[in-house]
Amino acid sequence: MTELNVLPDPRPFYERAADQLAALIDAVRPEQWTGPTPCSEFDVRELVRHVVAGTRTFAEMGAAAAAAAATGARAEAGPDAMGERTGGSRWETAIDDVPDDGWVTAYAQARAQLTAAWADDTTLDALMRVPWGELPGRDVLLAGVLDAVAHAWDLARAIGDRRELDQELAGCTLEAAHRMLPPERRGAPTPFGPVRPAPEGADAYEELAAWLGRHAKWSASTDAVSAAAAGSAAGAVDGGGSLDSAIDALATVLKGSVLRPADQRYDAERGTFNSAVQHRPALIAGVADAADVCAVVAFAAARGLPVAVQATGHGQAIASAGGILINTRRLRGVSIDPEAATAWVAAGVRWEEVVPQAAQHGLAPLNGSAPHVGVVGYLLGGGISLLARQYGYAADRVRTIEVVTPDAVVRRVTADSEPDLFWALLGGRDNFGVVTRVEIDLIPVTRLYGGGLYFDGATQGADILRAYRAWTADLPEELTSSIALFPAPDIEAVPAPLRGRLVVHVRVAYTGSVEEGERLVEPLRAVGPRLMDSLADMPYTACASIFAEPTNPMPYDGDTVLLGELTQETLDAIVEVTGSGDVPCIVEVRHLGGALTRRTGAANSVGLRDAAYLLGVLSPLRGPLTADVVRPIHRSLLAVAAPATVGRPLAFMGPSGQHAGEAGPDAAEELVRSAYRPDDYERLRALKAVYDPQNLFRLNHNIRPAVRR
Ligand SMILES: Cc1cc2nc3c(=O)[nH]c(=O)nc-3n(C[C@H](O)[C@H](O)[C@H](O)COP(=O)(O)OP(=O)(O)OC[C@H]3O[C@@H](n4cnc5c(N)ncnc54)[C@H](O)[C@@H]3O)c2cc1C
Repeated sequence: MTELNVLPDPRPFYERAADQLAALIDAVRPEQWTGPTPCSEFDVRELVRHVVAGTRTFAEMGAAAAAAAATGARAEAGPDAMGERTGGSRWETAIDDVPDDGWVTAYAQARAQLTAAWADDTTLDALMRVPWGELPGRDVLLAGVLDAVAHAWDLARAIGDRRELDQELAGCTLEAAHRMLPPERRGAPTPFGPVRPAPEGADAYEELAAWLGRHAKWSASTDAVSAAAAGSAAGAVDGGGSLDSAIDALATVLKGSVLRPADQRYDAERGTFNSAVQHRPALIAGVADAADVCAVVAFAAARGLPVAVQATGHGQAIASAGGILINTRRLRGVSIDPEAATAWVAAGVRWEEVVPQAAQHGLAPLNGSAPHVGVVGYLLGGGISLLARQYGYAADRVRTIEVVTPDAVVRRVTADSEPDLFWALLGGRDNFGVVTRVEIDLIPVTRLYGGGLYFDGATQGADILRAYRAWTADLPEELTSSIALFPAPDIEAVPAPLRGRLVVHVRVAYTGSVEEGERLVEPLRAVGPRLMDSLADMPYTACASIFAEPTNPMPYDGDTVLLGELTQETLDAIVEVTGSGDVPCIVEVRHLGGALTRRTGAANSVGLRDAAYLLGVLSPLRGPLTADVVRPIHRSLLAVAAPATVGRPLAFMGPSGQHAGEAGPDAAEELVRSAYRPDDYERLRALKAVYDPQNLFRLNHNIRPAVRR
């Protein structure tokens, strides 16, 4: 046991700290609850919730200390002891919803509980095991004082309250913080950032704030994070001379490039496949190796600038406004080990580069429908491959992940070395860092029976959809397929039989023999004549022709859901939205199930494996066809499918997700939550609080850190 020897009896100090904090909570004006705070993971409401929850936790610790003092035993007051009561890995006491005008009372009650729990002098000498060590009760309560003092400053800054704070109290607390939280105890799992230098002339609170990793000169009006998030490049980047020169310094350190909005190459570097999603970062860092990534992440963390990650731009991501976009496309290299049937693939590589290289060794990767999609972004979102029903999620075949985590450390992560981080990365995407390369398994596949059956949607759409549903009810796992309805443009680039028609395209990939494949697809061919029929034996290297997806960027809007079943009502709605003609809709149903329902490798957070189908709808945006025009049509289809909808796949979560994000943080969170099983989502939030407590990686489909001390 270590004794801090700071205060023999911290209780009077606690009461002073609590008086100060109570007055500040009382001073929050109704319009301030959603304002930013120096703790980037909290707005004012969440900060106060955290304060109340923390106070109750220290009250529970006091009760444990009293019980231990009575028996002479050691009090167990850490996550192991408290986890069950507080929800697994979150050891902070859970609290019910409190209306905004109820926080003053909630805090008063929690504080009274704490005071009562520690009333007996013997609690101060009780031996306690808490998450940050084995300590006497007085030093545990000292952490409660630190909590109350630090958060009083946070709250005062957040609401712009200029009252004189108790400096003596902060002085004692600073001494305690120096002993409790030495500089080397930073980063995960300690929820404090690296010590920052205190500004000249700092008072005790500012010194304490800097010691705890906050910006000591933070104020709501100069919050760089808010400025960046609001897209104000002026506030985030060009505002202060010192930040500008820091960017220049960063540029000299990187092997890659740093681009500001005024730079000529800025637009080319932020381009996306869906050109309706326009990233407007304050800075783009075109990283060239893992050391570059570390430098950029450290730069962002030191300034609280949010980070987004992009490789090829094929993710239908949230458009980032402000912050730093890390572009990984310069991270090159594929290295295949034919003996082990594995490949190391760097973060800037697309599947179209891996497929031919693997084929030279009689192997194939678990790539998806479009070979121009990036390997890493696809894998981190799960990866539904052309052979998904036979081999399961591509993420299950990832062996090793090299990643720069938000603390700017390069880690080589396997299921054995860091099971939690490995689990979170595969499914949590860029919420946990920038992946620089991955090691994946390859499969022994060199050929397929595959291609497409094309029908006339206007006359055969309903029949072929019905036949497809019946057909997919009983197929071997070796056959993975999809059906799409789309209006084919009347242009030369489109094969003549399809031009200007509503086309139904069934895509087939089967690893069995040609004869068996022919037999299996017979029920579909029996529906009637095809406009085109390309099903044949093919080398795996020709797999891009199965979906034959467009490769040029275009603006579009869409949404995708996972279904437990494909109902007749959904099929009818597909026929209706694709047949109306007013708003061109491309609808896809992908057959899932098979090995996707099983975990075929180490555990990861890829969610909703029980889904039987994926249903996606999208429309090109041009002229009068704006997102506002097409979304109601998409929603009408998804509303019919809603009773069978089990969630949304993160990999295809699109601009409509952005739309939900615009409707407020709660809608955005609900959207992301819908990609996971509830307990997995809570685990992801708990791990986010460990690996990215500042929520630096939040310009994405964001997993918000769980609230912790
Ligand atoms: C035409 C098309 C076809 C598709 N087909 C399939 C398919 O068959 N199966 C399937 O499962 N998905 C498919 N997708 C979805 C695709 O897998 C995801 O959009 C994927 O995220 C794209 O990754 P990217 O790197 O190419 O795109 P980007 O836009 O560059 O990245 C998308 C996201 O991936 C994350 N990311 C990328 N690189 C990194 C990194 N180095 N570190 C951390 N995070 C990173 C980030 O969150 C980023 O926002 C398809 C998408 C398109 C546009």
